Amino acid sequence: MNLVITQLSKTYPNGVHALRGVSLAIQPGMFGLLGPNGAGKSTLMRILATLQEADSGQARLGDIDVLRDKEAVRRTLGYLPQEFGVYPAATAAEMLDHFALLKGITAKGERRDTVAALLRQTNLWEARARRLDGFSGGMRQRFGIAVALIGDPRLIIVDEPTAGLDPAERARFLNLLSELGERAVVILSTHIVEDVSELCTRMAIIDRGSIRLAAEPLQAVEALRGKVWRRGVERALLPRVEAALPVISTTLIGGRTLVHVYGDAPPDATWEAVEPDLKDVYFTVMKGIEVHPEAAPPVSHEPLPPLVLPPPVREPEPLTRPADLFAPRAAEPPPLPPFATRADEPPPSAERTGPPPLPEAER
Ligand code: ADP
Repeated sequence: MNLVITQLSKTYPNGVHALRGVSLAIQPGMFGLLGPNGAGKSTLMRILATLQEADSGQARLGDIDVLRDKEAVRRTLGYLPQEFGVYPAATAAEMLDHFALLKGITAKGERRDTVAALLRQTNLWEARARRLDGFSGGMRQRFGIAVALIGDPRLIIVDEPTAGLDPAERARFLNLLSELGERAVVILSTHIVEDVSELCTRMAIIDRGSIRLAAEPLQAVEALRGKVWRRGVERALLPRVEAALPVISTTLIGGRTLVHVYGDAPPDATWEAVEPDLKDVYFTVMKGIEVHPEAAPPVSHEPLPPLVLPPPVREPEPLTRPADLFAPRAAEPPPLPPFATRADEPPPSAERTGPPPLPEAER
């Protein structure tokens, strides 16, 4: 089932043109919608999730008219909003059961199975009896995905999911997203380029309400090969460089400013060629420079060749069998003699092993 968006526009009552004739064709799989804050991502996501009206345009999910037939969309939609609202004192399992009931899973046994499967899938099974208001940011996002996945949706919308997650939580969350069904259209909206480069097979860049690029990430990167150049620049010279050259990004690395510029040739011999990445694509597009992925040589989608690994290294035999750990040790060292203070010293008359006592006169 494809999602086809045609000439979607939205202007808010305050005059902000949030969407200006957005058109996109999205196939099943992970699609990244990348853009800066205020680009119009949430507006588009909310319209597709039937939570907001568009002014004009069309959106079709298979044969469902998304803008008109809202009930049909909601039956097959999983939506993880940017803000999930207040986290109640209920447990994860109770809340998920509640949402499953709202989604129309009325049979108790089916609901119990659904809830258990989702808690396991999102790695929250161990935390199922914990209250949601005590969950960490990463756990809340995973819980949000569990809610979004109720009822096996065909359209899954995830709005800015990694904002505020620490790196480990983010990695765990992206892994979870990458496992979402091949059958569903999954739209991941984000301002973080790495979210898209790590996960998505297709992407679009949106800025000020307009789609600036729709492409496969690898193909878009390929289109920039031989067109990005870099060198370090002293901070004081930066404004002059920016005025003179098509600078696409400046990055501080170890206190020095690394500048990337766009061009068919390096500005001079002091600039070196850059192996481009999706950040270069994003910044180039955001500077208003056109990128033409369709002109780049096609990127191979051949399956990966089989991986040849050396046979696994045999674990050495354990030195002690577990039972031996509890057996009395054979050669226990003799116990140390008790520590003696002066007061404990034997009276001079007792037998001693040291040198013979000094003669009376030498004491
Ligand atoms: P993004 O999700 O990419 O940050 P949004 O869709 O939230 O972008 O916002 C797009 C533009 O629309 C911004 O300029 C924002 O200030 C404006 N906007 C969003 N929601 C409203 C609203 N309810 N009323 C007025 N302006 C809004």
